[in-house]
Amino acid sequence: MRAAVVGKNRKAEIVEREIRAPGHGEALLTMECCGVCHTDIHVLKGDFGDKTGVIIGHEGIGIVTEVGPDVTALKVGDRASVAWFYSGCGHCEYCTTGRETLCRNVKNAGYTVDGAMAEKCIVPADYAVKVPDGLDSAAASSITCAGVTTYKAVKVSGIRPGQWIAIYGLGGLGNLALQYAHNVFNAKVIAIDINDAQLEFSRSLGATLTLNPKTDDVPAIIQEKCGGAHASVVTAVSRLAFNSAVDAVRAGGRVVAVGLPPEKMDLSIPRLVLDGIEVVGSLVGTRSDLAEAFQFAAEGKVVPKVTMRKLDEVQEIVEEMEAGKIRGRMVVGFNHK
Ligand SMILES: [Zn+2]
Ligand SMILES: [Zn+2]
Repeated sequence: MRAAVVGKNRKAEIVEREIRAPGHGEALLTMECCGVCHTDIHVLKGDFGDKTGVIIGHEGIGIVTEVGPDVTALKVGDRASVAWFYSGCGHCEYCTTGRETLCRNVKNAGYTVDGAMAEKCIVPADYAVKVPDGLDSAAASSITCAGVTTYKAVKVSGIRPGQWIAIYGLGGLGNLALQYAHNVFNAKVIAIDINDAQLEFSRSLGATLTLNPKTDDVPAIIQEKCGGAHASVVTAVSRLAFNSAVDAVRAGGRVVAVGLPPEKMDLSIPRLVLDGIEVVGSLVGTRSDLAEAFQFAAEGKVVPKVTMRKLDEVQEIVEEMEAGKIRGRMVVGFNHK
């Protein structure tokens, strides 16, 4: 089979690989598509350690073509996903309390184990979430990573119908956060981005208020117009956005961190204590979160923007992403000509 691996010179390389038969509890997927994510770029560059030779990809959707012994969760013909959360240990304090993504022995697809950017992929059947009918594979691939991450973040924010949620950064993650917040949780969305085109797009998706930090005093306007947001979700990779998000919430508000700038944020202790502000991190989502995120997309409540590409184009896509030339998600279709 053909696969995209971490090659020399920190680039994606297309190679020919053998794939073994699925073992006990495993399923073999024949892949339909796999999205390219910024996390793949970190893996390629060795930002999380040298991964030379590992197959990248954690936004994969494939059809089960073979199952190993004792598989009950999947059968041949099912459509299933390969997500960043590839598997947990199954028995630690996190795995047994609905927080499996925090498992200290977690495996991540396209990083600790071979991923989905290949014509075939082996998955632990109990961990591969099925894709519901009515959701096409390319859209599902986007939900497998950006979708579930933002759905989970909005869930963690505790937002309720009619309340105000401030979303910082309206790119690939943020526009899905907006759709989940608006269409699933019935919240009123305040969209914040430094790019006016993204703000215009967010208005078309239902944002009630849009603000640009380049020209607007974001927290002051949110406090004045909405009495402060009930929650903020920060997908922007900027410490300024994190600081603004704390200032934008009302007393008792919650700030959910999703973006990962390699910096520290300011956090006023009096603000934290006297106003009862909560600041929490949210990391991808569990299998249940992904099943829910898929279902809402299948119902048409959330529509990811995707463009189909070829496997040979992976390195080209990476370079386009690094140059900031990409809108929406680039998804490699293994039968795409
Ligand atoms: Zn991803
Ligand atoms: Zn565990």
